[in-house]
Formats: sequence, C-alpha cells, structure tokens
Amino acid sequence: MTSTRCTDRVVGAILASWRYDISGISPNMRKDYEHHFADCAHCSARQKFHRSLDATLAVLTSLAAVFFLFALAVLKHIKPLEHMAFNVFGLDVEDTYHMLVSAGISGLIFSLIVLALVLMATPAPKYLGGIAAERARIIEERLPAAIKSLRSR
Ligand SMILES: [Zn+2]
Repeated sequence: MTSTRCTDRVVGAILASWRYDISGISPNMRKDYEHHFADCAHCSARQKFHRSLDATLAVLTSLAAVFFLFALAVLKHIKPLEHMAFNVFGLDVEDTYHMLVSAGISGLIFSLIVLALVLMATPAPKYLGGIAAERARIIEERLPAAIKSLRSR
C-alpha cells in the first residue's frame, strides 16, 4: 500500500494482530501504542485504513437491511401490478409472491445479523460515534452567538 516502514517492528506486529484497534485495552497500557501511532506514519495510516473499512462495512450492511425492507414494502404494495406481470410470465401468483416475500425476509434477517456481527467485532460504533461527536462540535462552534446563549441556559 505505502512505501513507509514501521519504526518499531515488534509494536507494529502487535498492532497489526489487533487490526490497529487499541480501544479495547486499558488507558495506561494504551499510552505506549498511542505514542507509536504518533511516531509511526505506517501504523497510523494502517489504523485509518482499518477504521474506514469498519465504517464502510457497517454502512453497507445497514444499507442492505434498508434495501431488503424496501423490497418487502414494494411487495406489499405491488398487488395491482402483479396481475399483469404474472399473466405475461405465466407464473403462479401465490407461489411467486410467497417466494419473493421469504427471500426478502431472509435477506433482511441476514443483513441485520451481519450488521450486528460487524458492530460487535469492530470498533465501528465508537469510530462512527466519534465522527458524529466531532461534527456536532463543529456545527455548535458555527452557531450564531444568539443561539449559543440560548443553549447554555
Ligand atoms: Zn509502526
């Protein structure tokens, strides 16, 4: 990926085995690794890459769940259309409808399970929460003084 090298191979190997996630270890142990991330361009780049990968997985799986939910909603409202479609294709209406609904439900359940696994196995919630907190802070800084004084009451 990059031509940079880790400045401390031992620490680098430990961090790599944790996928550069130090959120799970105690704060006083974390200090050394935070120093390493500050010193080592290689490891901090890898950390950023892995955290954005986690966030991407979380976003993709939740999108999949939303799409399956949408498909189920479409199936629920498709009654007027299905008459023509099923007559043209010569499909049995009831069987096809049940097949599509069960495909939609199993897809929804599957993507929710995968989303839960992603959120449990990766620090994505913390990472996304951090981004949200940062955005909120930036927005709050930009608020006009009048609104700020209202909020502080
Ligand atoms: Zn390193």
